[in-house]
Amino acid sequence: MYANILVEYNVKTLDKTFTYKVAPKIKDKLKVGMKVKVPFGHTYINGFVIGLENKTEEDLNNLKEVTEIVDENLVLNQELLELGKYLKEKTLCSLISAYQTMLPPSLKIKNQKNNYELTATYIILNEEVDIEKYIRENKRSVKQIEILRNLQKHLKILKKDINSSSLKTLINKNVVKEVKEKKYRININLQLKQDNPLTKEQEEVFKAIKDNLEKEKTFLLYGVTGSGKTEVYIHLIKEVIKKQKQALLLVPEITLSTQLVKRFYERFGSKVAIFHSALSEGEKYDEYQKIAKGEVDVVVGTRSAIFTPIKNLGIIIIDEEHSENYKQEKMPRYTTIDMALFRSKYNQIPLVLGSATPSLETMARAKKGVYTLLTLNNRVNNATLPKITIVDMKQEMKKRNPLFSDLLLAKINNCLEKKEQVIILLNRRGHSTIITCQNCGHTFKCPHCDISLTYHKSANNLRCHYCGYTIFKPEECSECHEKALNYLGTGTEKLELELQNNFPKANIVRMDVDTTIRKGSHEKIISSFQNGEYDILLGTQMISKGLDFANVTLVGVINADLSLNMPDFKARERTFSLLTQTAGRSGRSNKKGEVVIQTFDPNNEIYKFILENDYNSFYNYEMAFRHELDYPPYYYLASIKITSKDYNLASKEANKVGNYLLKNLEKTTIVLGPTTASLFRLNGIFRFQIIIKYKVDNKLNDVLRKLDDMYIINKQVNLEIDTSPMTI
Ligand code: ADP
Ligand code: ZN
Repeated sequence: MYANILVEYNVKTLDKTFTYKVAPKIKDKLKVGMKVKVPFGHTYINGFVIGLENKTEEDLNNLKEVTEIVDENLVLNQELLELGKYLKEKTLCSLISAYQTMLPPSLKIKNQKNNYELTATYIILNEEVDIEKYIRENKRSVKQIEILRNLQKHLKILKKDINSSSLKTLINKNVVKEVKEKKYRININLQLKQDNPLTKEQEEVFKAIKDNLEKEKTFLLYGVTGSGKTEVYIHLIKEVIKKQKQALLLVPEITLSTQLVKRFYERFGSKVAIFHSALSEGEKYDEYQKIAKGEVDVVVGTRSAIFTPIKNLGIIIIDEEHSENYKQEKMPRYTTIDMALFRSKYNQIPLVLGSATPSLETMARAKKGVYTLLTLNNRVNNATLPKITIVDMKQEMKKRNPLFSDLLLAKINNCLEKKEQVIILLNRRGHSTIITCQNCGHTFKCPHCDISLTYHKSANNLRCHYCGYTIFKPEECSECHEKALNYLGTGTEKLELELQNNFPKANIVRMDVDTTIRKGSHEKIISSFQNGEYDILLGTQMISKGLDFANVTLVGVINADLSLNMPDFKARERTFSLLTQTAGRSGRSNKKGEVVIQTFDPNNEIYKFILENDYNSFYNYEMAFRHELDYPPYYYLASIKITSKDYNLASKEANKVGNYLLKNLEKTTIVLGPTTASLFRLNGIFRFQIIIKYKVDNKLNDVLRKLDDMYIINKQVNLEIDTSPMTI
């Protein structure tokens, strides 16, 4: 028998498989998808078995032998092997890097550590002892009896939970026994909750999907914020479980989903696995095991969970499908929906895309009938959507109110008096975002990225938000040495201080990247806000989605223009989504909600649609613009970044690439550029960009792959190809 083995070697795309003879001693055990160790050159390396065959005609006797299996579990099952090929095809990555991306650290090819398993000692009753008799004979040993009664009730108890001298006596007398068992790091057992009966509107949507559980079919569940989409997911998953299948629910960011995860533990008990990048290696290992062994019914996770080895997948749900977190921005640059479509087809099961603000691409497909559109128009429990007010900050500036409008201050005050809660959004972190010298006009910028540094007051330093470059807070201008530095621009850190000045008695909590570095800190902020320990929650886009607090009746948006003014074709779509989602945090329960949006551009068309919560009109407006300018969904995009430490070289090669594309792509395809990329200098690297717009181009994939191959060996110039860019 011979094995085809895919290895990782230090050439970027060494994507060859090598044939080895299979040693007789492992012949019966070796399967496709296993990780093995093979001789390679003068050394040994790991590889994945991607094929086994019985060759006879050729003389392969001088082949080397595979003698050692590194992992006897199937590292990659048939579906994942296929999915890897698809990932390669879609993103132009190598097959080996596709598989590497799909696997958790514990299973990655080079990993040498293989003992992630954790054990715990439990106490159980010794079945050979008559416990009742022992209790009668030891009536005075109250503590011992208590332990025994507890064990009768719970069968087994963690030893460390009962460690006492009475326990020692029981062990010594052999009345109870110690047993070591495998223990999972994440082990959550919440009180189970009943399902809510669905509303009529929810029921209809539920039924439409339920009737198609055995089909490859994609649904867009468009439901306004608070319309009970999550509840529909839960009911659907219960149906899937009835069929002995498992469900996968993807969320954009685990920080935004702590409430949702808790809800899942309350409905599905310990039959839930979670999977996301913030887990430790050990936790990932455990959760992956639970999934691979079929011990759970539901997997809740971020985009990487799309690659988990769920055996009998029954449904895939992507919540907040519009979120850009579903796109991986490093190689392989995949979009999660693509991967989900593959698994939906492979397993012949539905894919449900849920959102209150679907991406234009998704909605366009739904309107064309490629996806099935399902709608939830109303909030649950007759809750109404909040009343939105737009405030013109140009007028406020005349009154010298640069940060808070009179209206927002009055409404916050009112809300606090009623003992209701407030959420404030400012999509920019740090204290001051621009530090300039009043004397010479010098602005502090990152030397590697050409981006303004942000002042962080608590850490007392200036930081680049792109590469992490950090310097101590300067005392004087680095150019003219005058002590005349001006701290302009407001981030969440300054906002918090200003807010506290305005409302000295209010308890304020801030949630942004800086306050949530430590593991578990975002859960803590969310649960303490939920418990009413704080009156105001302030933060970046982290607080815009997913949160569900019954007592929040006011949402304020400080500077809505921040995302609107980005030079990108998706800026309006992103802003519409951000503001609609943020507004959706207000008045979700029986109390009426309000929203105040502060902007310097109140006449921008987009606010009309936000005010009226009119997604459809926004959609039509924005589609007209996309049509006019040949943007998605009318055209597909691909982007190529040509980067180098050497400016001239980058520029020269960018022109070459541009010409190559013009020559080799279809005539109907539009090639734009090269131009400088929007972050022209990042981490000391110069970046040029070419955008490709196309409707159908059968040559594109080949051309891009050829280009990639040409530059792989180039040590000075690098190509970053993205076949589904989210920004340009
Ligand atoms: P969405 O996911 O659309 O934002 P959720 O599913 O979070 O909405 O529902 C909003 C709120 O309404 C939640 O607090 C949820 O518990 C509640 N809810 C949803 N469906 C029902 C129902 N059928 N009966 C009672 N409460 C419900
Ligand atoms: Zn930088």
